[in-house]
Amino acid sequence: MNSIPRDFRLRQSEQAWFDQAEGQLPFKANPYYLQLAAGSEALRRQVIPTEAELEPLEYESSDPLSEEIHSPLPRMVHRYKNRIALLLTDNCSIHCRHCFRRTFTGTGSRNLSLEDCDDVINYVNSHPEIREILLTGGDPLTMPESDLEKILRQFRRNSSDSNLVLRLATRIPAVHPGRITPGLLSILSDNGPLWMVVQFNHPDELTETSRKSLDMIRKSGIPMVNQTVLLKGVNDNADTLADLFQDLLSAGVKPYYLFQGDLARGTSHFRVPLEKGWRIMDELRVRISGLAMPVFAVDLPGGGGKIPLSRSLLIRETATSYIFNSAEMEGREYEYPKEKG
Ligand SMILES: *Cc1c(COP(=O)(O)O)cnc(C)c1O
Ligand code: SF4
Repeated sequence: MNSIPRDFRLRQSEQAWFDQAEGQLPFKANPYYLQLAAGSEALRRQVIPTEAELEPLEYESSDPLSEEIHSPLPRMVHRYKNRIALLLTDNCSIHCRHCFRRTFTGTGSRNLSLEDCDDVINYVNSHPEIREILLTGGDPLTMPESDLEKILRQFRRNSSDSNLVLRLATRIPAVHPGRITPGLLSILSDNGPLWMVVQFNHPDELTETSRKSLDMIRKSGIPMVNQTVLLKGVNDNADTLADLFQDLLSAGVKPYYLFQGDLARGTSHFRVPLEKGWRIMDELRVRISGLAMPVFAVDLPGGGGKIPLSRSLLIRETATSYIFNSAEMEGREYEYPKEKG
């Protein structure tokens, strides 16, 4: 649904967004997540926009990771030597208000075609160093099953590397778990090796339905890891994250990354100061096992790539920013702003 149902009571700061920005910026929800959001502040913040989004900061960007400059083919991002990301669709089941691809998602671009796919496969075949393909978007699991199946089969049939790893990133088990069906799972498991990367940001997203979907995925033999985005007012405390990561572990999902917010336009109200993120990580380490611990990481602004946010990669600080060294990018320096809490 692309507008808010009448029986959902908006608050003033939310109504202000709909008055000023509806139609210019995408809003999308579904009945399942909206019902959860009505009873959970943490989920509400992730799906209902507020007027805070209308105040972009000067250093925020519509392409915060500079993906554009690393795209040798349309919809394909080749930023790291041995893996590429492929944006299959711009469609999602809900629009997460913190999304860093928020200027791509929901724009009505067509899905990747089989011809596009062949171009990608040719590219991959002529770059044997590529061992892994991230299938992302948007959310690939919102695509029609037959389209998804054709794309996966195409990769398996035409790629010269039969061990090419497919990594499918999706938020479906958290936001629309009813979409996980035996039919969909057999398409995925028949075209492995395939890993699923899910995104849970709060324990309230682990409902009975959602746990059931994770159980089905696990039993179909698809390994899962989780990425969480650190979000102010949603999960920026050790209690919430300890519960989340422990619950994920018991559902058979390994916490992989905890992401510091990207500098996407109009998302400053979600960002947590780095110092606070570090403190939360220190606290988590004494409360949950190593297996339940994700890597705290950031995608450096300006195309610096993902780096683990260990204090050892911090070269120096200025009054307004942290300066990191990106190993991937041959020792170039990248800046991440110091923000107030
Ligand atoms: C995140 C990302 C990857 C995967 O990085 P990992 O550290 O292996 O998870 C690959 N390509 C692009 C463009 C990415 O943004
Ligand atoms: S599902 Fe993923 S791509 Fe879609 S809005 Fe949420 S974070 Fe962005």
